[in-house]
Formats: sequence, structure tokens, C-alpha cells
Amino acid sequence: MKRFDVVVVGGGLAGLSAAAHLSHSGKKVLLLEKANLGGRAVTINIKGFAFNFGAHAIYGRDTSVLKQLEKELDIHIDWKDFNPLKAKYDIGEELTAVPANVVGLFRTKAIQGMHKLSFVYQIVKTLIKAETGNPHISIRKWLEQEKVSNEVKEMMLTLASSNFFTREPEKIPSDIFFTYYRRIFTTNKPVAYIGGGWQNLISEFVRVIEQNDGVIQTKAKVDEVKVEEDRVTAVCTKDGWIEAEEFIFCIPPSDLLKLFENTKIEYAIKQYAQYDPTYVLVYDIGLKNKIEVPYTYVYNRKDKVFITDISYYDTTCVPEGGQLLQATTYLKNEDIGNKDVIDRYKKNIEDMYDKYFSGWRDELVVPRISQKAVVQEIKWNMHQQAMPLFFPEYRNLFFAGDWCEGQGQLSELSFSSAYQSSQYIMQKQSMVLA
Ligand SMILES: Cc1cc2nc3c(=O)[nH]c(=O)nc-3n(C[C@H](O)[C@H](O)[C@H](O)COP(=O)(O)OP(=O)(O)OC[C@H]3O[C@@H](n4cnc5c(N)ncnc54)[C@H](O)[C@@H]3O)c2cc1C
Repeated sequence: MKRFDVVVVGGGLAGLSAAAHLSHSGKKVLLLEKANLGGRAVTINIKGFAFNFGAHAIYGRDTSVLKQLEKELDIHIDWKDFNPLKAKYDIGEELTAVPANVVGLFRTKAIQGMHKLSFVYQIVKTLIKAETGNPHISIRKWLEQEKVSNEVKEMMLTLASSNFFTREPEKIPSDIFFTYYRRIFTTNKPVAYIGGGWQNLISEFVRVIEQNDGVIQTKAKVDEVKVEEDRVTAVCTKDGWIEAEEFIFCIPPSDLLKLFENTKIEYAIKQYAQYDPTYVLVYDIGLKNKIEVPYTYVYNRKDKVFITDISYYDTTCVPEGGQLLQATTYLKNEDIGNKDVIDRYKKNIEDMYDKYFSGWRDELVVPRISQKAVVQEIKWNMHQQAMPLFFPEYRNLFFAGDWCEGQGQLSELSFSSAYQSSQYIMQKQSMVLA
């Protein structure tokens, strides 16, 4: 039987960052991934276009956990910051500035007159913690109770739609909303892309793990776990059992449930495994020649669709002269499997490409569509909550992923939960040494 200090199960962003962090701190780490590394953040090359199948952007990178990892692990990230001057809202009859900074707020017609001041008032209240929300009140209810004007309400919900990738921002618990925006309102780098795609970040984590004698096994599905009293003692793959002192499972709750059936935590995991994820529809296009337009991001408030010109930021993702546009629209759970609704969303996106990137059909080399992509494993609403990083039943078992408690949304939740779980393990050892 092989033996490690820590076994990390799952090679998505959470698993990779946890394994890099722990191996960098001197732990003997094994990372087991059932498929290929990257999980939902994989970048795939099709006909010379590098499509990010999952994550595209990091929100508030200057205060993110990824920024901290970049410094601590000395990984190189080729940040490509979003240009707010080239970001537009489609408000029906015209395009207007996105209020992503003070200039944008001053220029935008998405919110007008005195409502701009009321919006700024809400921002200030959030920043100074005069408003923290309440886990028992949704943001819709909070906006009603506070008698916030329709214009300000719409602005706040539009922001939440695009940051939480949801068609139903009003259902977000108000405490989650305000905690998130307290950080985002202070950022100088609201949105950033990664040069070379997310594959570069994955390669950097792999480099750190391997340089620190960590072991990575792909095509290594964990299909059984062994537990004794209050500890997990081993995991099993097709190659046999592997023992470790500590375990971090970075696999979604539905996969966890299969492994921890008939253990003391089956009851706890069951709750999270039945929660609804956040789904989106993605419709990316690779174009032979670039279509010149004065914007790189357009968000249609009515249809809740955004298009980003990824190749403007990351010129390496296209063949010479080409363009890669990424369109995303948010889905409700009831949309899943409803062909008519999905076709209508696809048509909305094509209409938006026609409107803002006229001529794209003649330049099309490769379309890439995901009809049901999971952006976040647990969707924020009043009936669902994030999974804890550990349960008291097993003292050496930790969890990480975008379904876990942590900072931010989406991949930031994966990084922050992985960081915290790794810290728990490192602190345990330093306490033993002391
Ligand atoms: C279309 C789309 C757009 C997105 N856009 C953004 C964005 O702009 N910004 C952002 O921050 N985030 C974005 N995200 C979200 C981001 O991609 C995810 O939050 C992040 O990749 C999740 O990483 P994870 O490690 O938590 O989970 P996962 O990526 O799900 O990783 C889990 C891993 O565990 C493996 N696994 C499962 N079971 C086992 C087992 N039994 N044994 C071994 N391995 C196992 C899986 O194969 C997988 O690799 C987007 C996602 C999608 C789909």
C-alpha cells in the first residue's frame, strides 16, 4: 500500500490549487483525477481556436485568493485586464457605458439623474458595512423593505445577474449579495482574463506540484474510501489502495455521495448532493477574420446575454487575424431539457451577434455550444447553502470546490475553499510540532 501525507481527490481548480499549496509547504502530496486535469476550467483547441470551456474571467483579481496564490507559490499569470471603456450595456434602443468604475457610472444611461446618487449611496452603505443583509431575507425582499427605487433595484440586480451568472438574481440571499459586493466595490481590477487561457494556470499549478515532488495521476478515479472510527484511512483506484494522513476531496457533492454512502457523513452530504446547480448556455464562435467594432463586451439586460471578445484580451487564442467571441446566457432550472426555450436562447444569441458583430456568419470557422454548462455546483437561493469544509465525524477529511463555503463566487469559491482546507491541514501539523 502506497502512503502520502495528503491525498487530494479531483483535479479541477480546487484540487490543483490545494495540491500545489500543500506540496509547496513541504507535504508529500498525491493528486488523483478521474479524467483530465482542469475539470470544468479546461481549455480545448479546435481548428486553431483555444476555447475556454469553463471559466473565462476572474472578478476582483487584486483582492482574490488566486492573487495570493500567485504570490505565495510564485506562479506566473499573464493577467489581461478588462477595458471598462470598451464595455457596453445594451439597454434596448442604444448601447451605453457599463458602470464598472466612476467614469462608467458618470457616463452610463443605464441609470439616470438622482437614481445615480441613490445607487452610489447603496454602494457606500455596502462598503462601510452599514448594510450587511440577512441570511433569511432574499435580495428581492430586502430591496422591497428598503423601498429602493425601480431604477436602482434594476441596476443592483443587473450587476448580480452578471456576477452570479443567474437569470434569477432576486433569489440571492441578501447577506451573500452584500458580502460579495463589499469586496467587488473596492476592487481596482473588476474583471481580468488569463493570457494563454486557463490551461496556462493549470500548467502552472502542475509545475509547482511536480517541482515539490508531488505526484499527479490522471485517469485515476477514486471509487472507494476506507473509514475507521473518526478517520478516513485510505482511498481506492483501479491501481489499488492508497493511505494518507489527511484527505481533501475536491469533487462535487453528487460524486462525494457515491463514495461516502453507508458512512457517518452520508446524511450530511445527501443534502448538498440534491441541490440545484447554476446552469448557463454557452455559444462561442471562432471567426476567420476579425470584425472591427469599438467594444469588446456587450451585455443585453433584457435577454440576459453577454458577448466578450476574448481574442481582444488574449491574442494567443486565435489563428493569425482571427477572432474568438464568447456568448453566455443564464438558464433557469426549468429551462434544462426544454428544446423550445433552449432554441430561443440560441436565437437570441445569434441575433445579438448579428446586431453587434455583423458579418460573423461569413467568417465563421467553428461554433462551440454547451447547452447545459454547470457554472457553479450550488446555486445561491434561499433554500440552498454552501457545503462546510469539514464535518466533525472525520477529523482528517476536508472539502473544497465551488460548492463549498468560501470567498467570492465561481472559481474564487474553488480557490478560497481549497486554500482554507489546505491551511487547516498545515496548521494541524504545526500544532503537533509545537
Ligand atoms: C461555461 C462556464 C463559464 C464559467 N465562467 C467563469 C468565469 O468567468 N469566472 C469564474 O471564476 N468561474 C467561471 N466558471 C466556473 C469555474 O469554471 C468553476 O467554478 C471551477 O472550474 C470549478 O472548479 P472545481 O475544482 O471546484 O470543480 P470541478 O471543475 O468540477 O472539478 C472536480 C474534478 O473532480 C473530478 N472527479 C470527480 N469525481 C472524481 C472521482 N471519484 N475521482 C477522481 N476525480 C474525480 C472531476 O473529473 C473534476 O476534474 C465557469 C464555468 C462554466 C462551465
